[in-house]
This record gives sequence, structure tokens and C-alpha cells, in this order.
Amino acid sequence: MSSLEEAIALLTPRRRLLAFTGAGISTESGIPDFRGPDGVWTKIDPSEFTFDKYVTNPETRKRSWQMRVSSGVLDAAPNPAHRALVDLWNAGRLMGVVTQNIDGLHQAAGLPDEAVVELHGNVRTVDCLECGASWTTEEVIARVDAGEEDPPCTECGGIIKVSVISFGQAMPMREVELAQQWAARCDAVVAIGSTLSVYPAAYVPLEAKETGAAYVIVNQGPTDHDDIADVVVPGPAGETLTSLATRLITNA
Ligand code: NAD
Repeated sequence: MSSLEEAIALLTPRRRLLAFTGAGISTESGIPDFRGPDGVWTKIDPSEFTFDKYVTNPETRKRSWQMRVSSGVLDAAPNPAHRALVDLWNAGRLMGVVTQNIDGLHQAAGLPDEAVVELHGNVRTVDCLECGASWTTEEVIARVDAGEEDPPCTECGGIIKVSVISFGQAMPMREVELAQQWAARCDAVVAIGSTLSVYPAAYVPLEAKETGAAYVIVNQGPTDHDDIADVVVPGPAGETLTSLATRLITNA
């Protein structure tokens, strides 16, 4: 039996699926991952982009804004993998998605906000780290395009930052609690497009597995949980999830 058939057999009787997604679900939308063969970390040193460096070094902020302008994340569109999860949601088979991604593509594909927990924030908004004022990222990118390399808060002059969680920055409490609740209540967890090496996020599928859920991984390339999962399905997320969702909905 192929690993995909094994996954279908394992997941068919389990009604409450939780999806845990990483950067690999969005590479087919043109957004590079971090640790894949063409990942961002093959070109850039991640230690340059810690929260500490962001708040202390204007050069880091300038580079961050330039990377944000050129990243293409704000223009990306959902792909078949995001849409397959929407199909599972519409069929009543998906509890929700816990995502490490910041691209908003699950919601763009059609999942309601309450079905998505964003553990690492999102790129849609920018906040002042001092007074909490907030803007859309488009508004701030327009200021960068107009020549402000390190745009300050227009209210208090403080440092502003896209609402994503950087290395060394605390995870959002409400999202972490919700992810833990979903992990404890699901019958199966499917991790998609993640090396499962970024903690504490990668505890979510582990917690689900520890509380009795089946654990399926869909990923191109090895992950840190390959020995823990019940089934590992190697392959591209779009094609694999489309097949998986179609069969699970047909088998319902
Ligand atoms: P990662 O870069 O560590 O791992 C991605 C994995 O997905 C790799 O194993 C890669 O080989 C695999 N992959 C790539 N394309 C795939 C495809 N089409 N189908 C199946 N698998 C594919 O990503 P991670 O585990 O999510 O951790 C990276 C961190 O970076 C996350 O915390 C996330 O916040 C952030 N990030 C987010 C985005 C985004 O929002 N799209 C992009 C880059 C990084």
C-alpha cells in the first residue's frame, strides 16, 4: 500500500482533523520556505533577524523593510493545497488549521478567521512596539517606497514592526492556548510543509499525538518528526492534499 493510501485509511474513520501547516504549503504559491533546498536561509543568515537586533539596530530594520517590499508575500495567491483544506472544512472534516505561516493564504483561500490560528502572526498589519498604534502593511510599504527606509510611528515616533513573531519574540498567548486546546481535542493531526523543527510551534502536533490522535506528515524532504508520525507521505502538498481531501470527502 502506498503511504498516501495508508494515510487515507488511517484518517477516514477519524472525524476531527487538525491541520498544522508550515512554509512548504505556500511554496507552490511562489513564497520561498526557510529550510527547503531553495529556502531563504540558504541565502540569508537568520541570526541577523532576531527581535533584539530589530529593536536595537536601524540597519536591521532597513533590511527588513526592503525584504518585505521585495518578498512578494503580499501579492501571493492560494494554491490547491490551501483549497483542499477549505474543501475539508466545508465538508465538516476539519477542526481548524494551526499555521506557522504569516502569509494569510488559508483565509484568502476561503477559511473563516475563526478556523485559523496564526502562531507566528501575519504580514497584513504593522504595529508600533511602543504605543500600539496599527496600520495596514500596504500603508507602511507605501512610506518605504516613498523613501522612508526605517519609518517611525506616526503617533509617538517609536519603532514599528510587521505583526510577525521574530526569533526571540514571545508567541501570542491566546493563539498558543487555542492551538493546545485543538491539539487535545482532535482525532488526527496532519502536518503539511514543515520541517517540524521550530519550537514551541512544533509541540502542537506532538501534543495531539500524545493525547491519542493519529499523526500524518505530508512533506517534501525529511522532518524532525518522521520517526514519531504514524504515516509520512512524501510529495508536493498541492497534489497530495487534493487527493487526500477528495478521498476523505468521498469516503465520508
Ligand atoms: P521550513 O522552511 O523549515 O520547512 C518547509 C518544509 O516544506 C521543507 O522540508 C521543504 O522541503 C518542504 N516543502 C517545500 N515545498 C513543499 C511543497 N510544495 N510540498 C510539500 N513540502 C514542501 O518551514 P517551517 O517548518 O514552516 O518553519 C519555518 C518558519 O518560517 C515558520 O515558523 C514560519 O513562520 C516561517 N515562514 C513562513 C512563510 C510563509 O508564511 N509562507 C515562509 C517562510 C518562512
